[in-house]
Formats: sequence, structure tokens, C-alpha cells
Amino acid sequence: MNYELLKKLCETPSVAGREQRIRDFIHNNVKGYFDEIKVDALGSLICKKFSKNKKKKKILLLCHMDEIGFLVSYINPKGYVFVDPVGGFDPRNLFSRRVLVCTEKEDLKAVMNPQGKPVHTQSAMDRKKIPEPNEFFIDTGLGEKANDKIQIGDYVVMDEPFLELPKKIVSKALDNRIACWLGMEIARYVSENKIELDNDLIIVFTSQEEVGLRGAKTASFDVEPDIAIGIDTTLACDTPGVPEQDWITTHGKGFGLHIKDSSFISDHELVSKFAKLAEKNKIPYQRTILSRGGQDGAAGQQAGSGAKAIAIVVGTRYIHTVTEMVDKSDLENALKILKKFLED
Ligand SMILES: [Zn+2]
Repeated sequence: MNYELLKKLCETPSVAGREQRIRDFIHNNVKGYFDEIKVDALGSLICKKFSKNKKKKKILLLCHMDEIGFLVSYINPKGYVFVDPVGGFDPRNLFSRRVLVCTEKEDLKAVMNPQGKPVHTQSAMDRKKIPEPNEFFIDTGLGEKANDKIQIGDYVVMDEPFLELPKKIVSKALDNRIACWLGMEIARYVSENKIELDNDLIIVFTSQEEVGLRGAKTASFDVEPDIAIGIDTTLACDTPGVPEQDWITTHGKGFGLHIKDSSFISDHELVSKFAKLAEKNKIPYQRTILSRGGQDGAAGQQAGSGAKAIAIVVGTRYIHTVTEMVDKSDLENALKILKKFLED
């Protein structure tokens, strides 16, 4: 498995609305695999491979390429930087983080901490309080000079290295660079093996999913798919302190076959089709329902006059933290089922 590619994807900073770097990286690496590639007004990368089949349909894979992060909202005269979140952070995970402030000219390494006193001098009351994301600040160590280098609207990402363990991958931004990886690996597979597809394959690397499926909405409107597949992470809460009925998925039990989340209900026939295909090919899978949370498949389903839609998901522990963790076998099984579906 090409985990070197996944590492590069995870370590390329690009928050919602600032997808240029990740888009350029993907674009450069998939150029030869498609018949047509374009970037739409919201910054999604729309890649099309046409089938020669006269009765073809349009199959759309949606892979969001943005990551959660921050936009700089204020720099005080001493050079401390304040931020506004882009996407959902749990502030309990923001204490003492290394971050990267991405400006138009350069990336500045820095640290993020909450306002207030250190543990030694805190009151008992302060110690219990969890600050809001906008109560954190960033210190670049540049002092007042930060004002010359950083401006409001520059973006900030977490700065933590990608880690490959024997059975797991750990990184920031696995949500949703695993889908970018799956989309790119499928495109490479179809192209290198000269597979004659019965249907048009459109892979869209979407923008701004983390702030409300915004890129997927306009791209799906443009594509007008017959079948839309949202590819994303989902929760894997198979960890201490969570009752089993709330696990959503379990690591190592296969790719996630999305039944429902709060943004859409998968097409029932498609669910059966994927389930049968997985069973026939001995690809492990788990059915998943997420009571709160949405994803790009919803935008695909509701574009134009509507499409049959489903999502293929990968259970992710510690989601929206710098320690997001996926099981390699679940990721590999997601790749297998998508290849089989396109060939079927
Ligand atoms: Zn996601």
C-alpha cells in the first residue's frame, strides 16, 4: 500500500476555503488518469473519465480535501495571534499544540495555548474551566514582528507528524485525506490496468466540506450524477469509556457501509448491492449509522433532480484531533470494495 502518498496528503496544509495546495498536489498526481479535469468556482477539482458504453451512467465519487483548522482573526500589538475555527474542534484537544501559520509568503512554526496562567499559579476555579476555541492564542516567538508577516485571513493548521504503526495510521487530517488517497489510488488503478469502465467515472476532490458540504453541493449540481458515493471517515468509538452500542464502527471489522447519518439516508438498493458484492468477494464490512454528523454523499444525492447515493466510510478513532487513527485493513477494504464496484 502506498502510504507514502497518504503521508504527503496528510502533511499538506489546506483548511476549508484554502484548498489550493492540496488541490495542486492532487492535480499534479492524477493528470494522466482522466480525460477531463477542471477546477470549479468553489475550488473543487472535478476529474472525469468517460466510458465508451452507449448505455452508460454517471458515477460520482466525492472526496473532500479540506481539513479543519483556523483563520487568523486578530494579531495584537505584541504579535500574539488569535484565530477563528474553520470546522469543529473540541477545545479540550487544543492545549499546548504545535501549529503552522500559513501566510502567502511562508509557513511559520508556532505554538497554541489557552489564555491565562500556568498550573502553578492558577486558581482551583480556573483549573476546571475549558476555554472556547477563540480563547486560545498562537505564539510565533516573533514578538511584534509577527504583525509584519501575518495578516487577518491567513490560515492555521495543526503541525504534527504522520505516524505509521504496524496495524494503524495516525495523523492529523486523516479526515479526509484518506478519501483523497482512495480517489487517487482508484484513478491510478483504472488507468494503469486500462480498465474499460461501463460508466463514466467522475471523482471530485471537494472543497469546504467541514463547513457544510459547500463544494460538494455545487460540484454535484455540475456533474448531475446517477449514482453518488461519499467517501469519508466516520467515528470509531471502540475505546475505553464508551458503551458498545455507541461505537458506530469497530477497528479491524472492515469498511463502513453507511446506512444513515443526519445529512442523508443511503439508497436501500445500493446498500444491498454493496453488501452482496462485499460478501461475494470476501471483503469485510460493517453497517454504520451515525446519529449526528453529515458528509458529501448528501450533496450528491440531492443535486439536480437527485441521485441514488451511498457512502463508503472508514472508522476513525479520536476524530478531529491530531491523533486521528485508522486501521490499515479497514482502509484497504474500502479500496477493494470501490474497485470491485466500478468493475462490476
Ligand atoms: Zn470528513
